[in-house]
Amino acid sequence: MKIHEYQAKELFKAAGIPVPREQVASSPREAVAVAEELGLPVVVKAQVLVGGRGKAGGVKKVDRLEDVESVAGRILGMSIKGLPVGHVLVSECADIEKEFYLGIIVDRANRCPVLMASAAGGVEIEQVARETPEKILKVAIDPGSGLLSFQARNAGMALLDDAGQARAFAAIAHKLYRVFVERDCSLIEINPLVRLGNGTLLALDAKVNFDDNCAFRHPGNEEMRDMSSEEPKEVEAKKAGLSYIKLEGSVGCVVNGAGLAMATMDLIKRYGGEPANFLDVGGSSSPEKMKTAMRIILSDPNVKVVLVNIFGGITRCDDIANGLLQAKKEADITVPIVARLTGTNADKARALLENSEVTPAATMAEAVKKAVELAGGVK
Ligand code: GDP
Ligand code: MN
Repeated sequence: MKIHEYQAKELFKAAGIPVPREQVASSPREAVAVAEELGLPVVVKAQVLVGGRGKAGGVKKVDRLEDVESVAGRILGMSIKGLPVGHVLVSECADIEKEFYLGIIVDRANRCPVLMASAAGGVEIEQVARETPEKILKVAIDPGSGLLSFQARNAGMALLDDAGQARAFAAIAHKLYRVFVERDCSLIEINPLVRLGNGTLLALDAKVNFDDNCAFRHPGNEEMRDMSSEEPKEVEAKKAGLSYIKLEGSVGCVVNGAGLAMATMDLIKRYGGEPANFLDVGGSSSPEKMKTAMRIILSDPNVKVVLVNIFGGITRCDDIANGLLQAKKEADITVPIVARLTGTNADKARALLENSEVTPAATMAEAVKKAVELAGGVK
């Protein structure tokens, strides 16, 4: 889950990381009121859950109070990379002397958090990593002992070359790491972390992604969620207890168990097709869940066939079959359905589906081949 810059900055502020004086606004008038309070010049920043807002024209410095309303209005009317701007952050303009990068991510290969710092701040770090990886300093953090003082100080010295500034940098790095751990982040980033003319450091931008696997530990995070930036079908699926990820292909998949779902997608590719989604209906799938799954999959216009691949353990095949039949009855489903149902109550399921328009298949391979064929064959 991603949160907006203004929300991330609130976490930073609470943790003692220096941020500019600023306030979020949802209308041009509100923006004017904030600017009046802060004093000019201000920077008006689009709040959308994508990077590169600056380049897209979503970050503007405003020198005169009478221009705030029109600039804020223009930014509030923008869409950046397809996402509408619902809020702007109005910040006091910082007198930037130099821009740095500071971030922490989970390094899966090394199984630990890694602190990344760079003097090449302000630009997208992905670009720096691609073009000039030597400009990124990486510090592996032992999750048992946390970020150590010397690690943070050395990184600060390498970047800033001044003992006092390195200490300030280290303090920020420690606070950032604490937020990263306490809030179960998968990524936390300050880009740019700036040095002002007077030598002090300030977090000018903030990016925080929460690890969804830890959502249960942070029920309060839900309040920060911005639905407008999420795939609506994925939201609907989550509410129904389904794991659904939209993909680009034409073979819709209904599968139980993440492992079987992955294997099914692999086999679709093996036989020359492209999956339209990943969908795990989970264990104990009621007919209701099945109906929701069908509705979500079929709302994707790319779907040419639905492949149902169920290995019935706790999931009962007859529940799946009933759900399928109900879905077909309630909605006018024209795309073909191929079903391979095996395991608990498979015989009952077979009897239920007999004389229905669902194409049965005895094995997974057979089902996948049929589905790929019905989707228009090998690409
Ligand atoms: P992003 O493009 O989405 O990463 O948005 P940022 O908040 O990082 O802003 C982009 C760039 O705008 C920064 O790298 C700065 O160069 C510039 N910028 C943002 N805020 C200020 C500010 O207060 N003062 C100055 N001088 N420049 C700013
Ligand atoms: Mn930025």
